[in-house]
Amino acid sequence: MGTMKDNRVDLRSDTVTHPTPAMREAMMAAPLGDDVLGDEPTVLALQEKVCALLGMEAALYVPSGTMANLLAIRSQTEPGDELIGEYGSHFFRHEGGGYAAVAGCSVNLIHGERGLIDEAQISARIRPRDVHFPVSRLLCLENTHNSGGGTVWPLERVEAVTAHARGLGLRCHLDGARLMNACVKTGHAPAAYARHFDTVSMCFSKGLGAPVGSVLAGSEETLARARRFRKMFGGGMRQSGLLAAAAIYALDHHVARLADDHARARRLAEAIATTEGLEIDPATVETNIIFFDVGPQCLAAPEFCRALEERGVRMLAMGPRRVRAVTHLDVDDACIERAIAAIGEVMATVAA
Ligand SMILES: *Cc1c(COP(=O)(O)O)cnc(C)c1O
Repeated sequence: MGTMKDNRVDLRSDTVTHPTPAMREAMMAAPLGDDVLGDEPTVLALQEKVCALLGMEAALYVPSGTMANLLAIRSQTEPGDELIGEYGSHFFRHEGGGYAAVAGCSVNLIHGERGLIDEAQISARIRPRDVHFPVSRLLCLENTHNSGGGTVWPLERVEAVTAHARGLGLRCHLDGARLMNACVKTGHAPAAYARHFDTVSMCFSKGLGAPVGSVLAGSEETLARARRFRKMFGGGMRQSGLLAAAAIYALDHHVARLADDHARARRLAEAIATTEGLEIDPATVETNIIFFDVGPQCLAAPEFCRALEERGVRMLAMGPRRVRAVTHLDVDDACIERAIAAIGEVMATVAA
């Protein structure tokens, strides 16, 4: 069973993984039904598994993390409501403005510290209860925080911030696209994080290595609304057990190994830290996401990435100076060493 992957080291994102032969076998063996009609046995099994994992009443398998977040927002707000979140949040930056276009919500954003925010910042964003203002309705946190650099929320901070938000009348959603990375890093059970939120989204297509799919979990009541909106948004799938089987396989086999991705990200960050012309604080690399800067005296990030690409290593330029690298299932120790060697070659060319 070939995966048809080229032999480049692809560090652009943890979404690029191909299903392993064993995962493909699990997909081919899955019993199937029709999930819109409600009798897809493999999707139902996945949703039950997620409910147990997160300690939630209900869960809904959806095509993408973007749809999971949009369903969380649409199900818990009305047009004219306002969301409170952090500037770098995925739902705000990278989901096409669905919160506004589809849910009719405005956003009131906070500049966080590598993606994390505090109680006073939330208080400062609450609108007065007056006809002039939108209604402050839903707090959205992200764990790990992607654009913050794979930042892990300490559990006691989640507890304090969500308790504070509830006291202000907000509901709480967690974008847990990489919640498993946070759990592997901290040793906390997923349910220990999830119990502080009304809804939690999670991606199987990131570090967990499934080809497609995310999930939204929460109360029966909220998820009943989400199920209706999923159909409305075109996310109702039929024999989707074929895909859900990959997610079940990922939860059974690909969680503990996330620690390897974290160790490899750390190794790469430490090598970057010792490279002249590149800037990174390796202490900020907590999980599988690395951001670093190409120093002002040498080439810009897009050219740096092109030069790496010519050497068979792919990273993403995220700005004029900023580069992102992400470790995942298809990156082993040898790949990291190849990436380090390619970086060394590119920077030596610049110095020359
Ligand atoms: C990837 C990601 C999502 C969802 O992305 P999709 O590509 O729509 O699956 C949501 N939140 C975060 C933090 C992400 O990194």
